[in-house]
Parts: sequence; C-alpha cells; structure tokens
Amino acid sequence: MGRDSSDCGLPPSKRLKLSKLSPTNLLEGFPTGAVGAGSGAPMARALPANEVETLGSRGQIRKVEFVRIITQALFSLGYQQAGAVLEQESGIVLQSPVVTEFQQDILAGQWDKSLATLHMIGPIDEETLKSASFLILQQKFLEFLDCGETTAALKTLRTEISPLDINTQRVHQLASFIVCPSRDILLDKAEWRGAGEDSRIYLLEELQQLLPPSVMLPEKRLEHLVEQALDLQRDACVFHNSLDHALSLYADHQCSRDQIPTQSLQITGWQTLTLRVLQWKACLGSAIRSVLTVLLGTPAKSVDNERSQ
Ligand SMILES: [Zn+2]
Repeated sequence: MGRDSSDCGLPPSKRLKLSKLSPTNLLEGFPTGAVGAGSGAPMARALPANEVETLGSRGQIRKVEFVRIITQALFSLGYQQAGAVLEQESGIVLQSPVVTEFQQDILAGQWDKSLATLHMIGPIDEETLKSASFLILQQKFLEFLDCGETTAALKTLRTEISPLDINTQRVHQLASFIVCPSRDILLDKAEWRGAGEDSRIYLLEELQQLLPPSVMLPEKRLEHLVEQALDLQRDACVFHNSLDHALSLYADHQCSRDQIPTQSLQITGWQTLTLRVLQWKACLGSAIRSVLTVLLGTPAKSVDNERSQ
C-alpha cells in the first residue's frame, strides 16, 4: 500500500521495456526534449545573479531565456553533449536539478517522492500546487486500480485526493471507477492510457502546462517561436504567392511583384471567352491579403465558385 510505482497492469513486453530503462533513459524519450543529460551536470553553474542582461537591437530578449530555449532545442534534437557544453559555458542551466528530479520521479512512478519534490521546485502558488498534486495522485489512484489493488486505490482517494478539496466532480468519477468491471472499461471511462510510460509522459505534459513556463519550459519552444515568425512574415507579405516550403530561415520572407500573374493565361475555344486572372489586394485589419479572381467574361466569379460548378 505504501509503494508508489505500479507497473503490474502493463503487458509483459511493456514491463520489460520500463524495467530496462533508467530514469535518464526514460527522460531521453520524453517528447518535450526539456530534460537534458547535462541539466544536472556537476560542471554546470547555477543561474547567474544578473538575469537582466538582454540581447537584440531593442534589448527585448532576456539572455537567460534565449540561452535556455537554445539549450532545449539542442537536447530535443539529440545533441546532448552540445547542450551540456552550452550549459557549462554559459552558466545557464536548462532547468534546475530539482525539476529534473521531479520529472524522473513522475516517469518512474514514484508518486510520494514526486509530491515532495514538487513542493521543492520553487515559487508556485498554492492553487497550482494543489492542481498538480491532484493530477499526480489521480495517476497514482488509476495505476493502483489498473493493478487490481483496489484497497490501495481507495485509500489514496480517501486520504490523499479528497483532502485536496478540489475537482469534486472528478473525485466522484474516480470513485465510480472502483467498480469498473474490466480494465478496458476503466481506460475508456477514465480516458486514460493505462499504467506505465505512455500515461506518465502524458501526465508530465499536463503538469508542464500547469507549472510556470520559467520552471518547466513549454516543449519545443524555439520551434514554436520560429514558426510564429514565419507565419507573421507570410501574413504580412503583400504579394504572397508561394508555397510554405519556399519559406527560409536565412532571410525574411517577401514575395516580389513579379510572382503575381497579371497576364492572360489561357484563351478558351469555348465561347471564345478570355480567361483573365486579375490580382487585387484587400485590407483585412493590419494584414493585406492577395486574392485571385477568375473572370469568365462578366460577371466576375471567384475561383472557388468556378471550381465547384
Ligand atoms: Zn510571400
């Protein structure tokens, strides 16, 4: 009843896989890439006292944040050594060793230890702490059920989950799962992936969304920022007429006027109508969008309308 990890509901192959993986290996499989092998490296120094150093022409980019997301990108790309070296050289760690320990605890199913580590992570408001604890204990409860350890599950519900005094409706739902006639029904009703790696990784993703981003970086942060920049450049492109794969990180995107068709493309024999493609621009909020209209004589018809007929 006192133990934490409960892998007994897993199929043998899955159990073997988990048992062979050390916490570090498990973290390497963590999709966020937020956990670097170098995060707890002995050579890595603590965050510098001066965190106000900025970068960029307007001084809007905090150097600490900039280096952290680069480090995260390196780890997620599999460049473990490069990420660790960057941490060491910059003195800026991707995340604190306590956060790394917390993630290891979750993936290893060490629920009680993870709850204790959660409270050591840093300044997190009480409401967030409760919500995070609820998610962890819910996983603990469900894994007990999945293992057929109903008594332990019931104890977790009564002595740990209920006293949190949040999510009352969900607590009632959890109680109803105790009498689920089969494992499949339990997984279906709980909308849960079963005891083990998959559901624990999902739990970490949920916790990541809950905890402050400064504590646990959102996954693939650098990719998200780059994609956002490309989207903005595309939306601001006055003469946009190219496919997304034409976008490059090497230069700001801008289609030239020459890429817009402005001449007659085809003369049909049918009714000797000239197919003319005109381009015009429309302002929509701050974005200017290019629209092509196909005219078959008059009146004008849109491309979509023409194709649908
Ligand atoms: Zn363009």
